[in-house]
Amino acid sequence: MDDNSVISPNFRTQVLVCRDCKADFVLTGQEQLFYFRRGLTNPVRCKECRQARRFQITNNQGGDLK
Ligand SMILES: [Zn+2]
Repeated sequence: MDDNSVISPNFRTQVLVCRDCKADFVLTGQEQLFYFRRGLTNPVRCKECRQARRFQITNNQGGDLK
């Protein structure tokens, strides 16, 4: 399935400021569509900070799932 061609013009690449490290990061239209389709709001953190948080959350949930 390749429905990338139906990306809404509402989803344009944006440059946002990370809430954690204050670095600029790019949120592409495809990423916005990804979050929109899952009913999520756009991320407020850069990829590095999001990965760091996900890593922490995973660890805190008692990871026997390695
Ligand atoms: Zn960050």
